[in-house]
Amino acid sequence: MTTTDTKDTLQKFIFDNAAVRGELVEISDTWREIQARHGYPKAVRTMLGEMVAACALLSANLKFNGSIVMQIHGDGPVRLLVAECDAELRMRATAKLAPDVDVADEAMLGELVNQHGKGRFVITLDPLEKMPGQQPYQGVVPLDGDDVATVIENYMLRSEQLDTRIWVAADDKVARGLLLQKLPRHSGAEDQTRQASEEDDLETWNRAAALGQTLKREELLSTDISTLMHRLFWEETIRVFDPLHPQFHCTCNREKVGNMLKMLGQPEVETALAELGELGINCDFCGKHYSFDKVDCAQLFASDTPAGALIRPSGSTH
Ligand SMILES: [Zn+2]
Repeated sequence: MTTTDTKDTLQKFIFDNAAVRGELVEISDTWREIQARHGYPKAVRTMLGEMVAACALLSANLKFNGSIVMQIHGDGPVRLLVAECDAELRMRATAKLAPDVDVADEAMLGELVNQHGKGRFVITLDPLEKMPGQQPYQGVVPLDGDDVATVIENYMLRSEQLDTRIWVAADDKVARGLLLQKLPRHSGAEDQTRQASEEDDLETWNRAAALGQTLKREELLSTDISTLMHRLFWEETIRVFDPLHPQFHCTCNREKVGNMLKMLGQPEVETALAELGELGINCDFCGKHYSFDKVDCAQLFASDTPAGALIRPSGSTH
């Protein structure tokens, strides 16, 4: 197998003459990078991997240059799962567990994040260039479903009024997924034509979804996406687009870490400084280390200077 064969790939396609679109994704290098500094329990790894695949699939729904952040806030042994993807398919993800928990290998979504029914699924759509005063769009819903795919399908139907079917699976090597979506038809055509085409759409949609439904978890884990495409849809007339390539990328920087310290408040930071002499913070996503000594922290709270101004030019002499 050559390197190009193993490159992380997202393949978009549409069904000819029907308002139905699809995507297949397989993520291995990026997924390995995400797991590199963490030893997640098996069930947590599976769920995070499924979110990574789903997040890449949903990023195609972005209608602007920005990023999609998918979070599950849990009330069980897993407190938080985050997957992020921007319009160029640059991704990062992480999971936070409650201290000293034992997670069974086969634990399901409900046991991991929704033990008391207080788990939440949050999608944030964050445009890169915001209008003045514009906030990122955020949708928050209860965890309606027994797995990641069902939670997202229910969210898409409720919030976006889009019929979406998602199949995702992940192990330690790969996160792979299929998305099918029935698109709204914007038609100015005569009523009869429109009705006919809507029936066609529905028929194609039902057939495609039934084909997707034959996909088993093991098959999804063990089969590359071009084989899956052929195996599932060989009888369909499908148009495929140029493949896209997800990759790992972390957006952390010193300014953001400084802002986080500012949000903790001066008393808290000073207490920690007195105890430790210097504050060391590791990025949860990429493991990068940031340190803030007494001088750095004093500067943080000295004025309303944005923390960005505190970035010390490296290698410069002033
Ligand atoms: Zn980072």
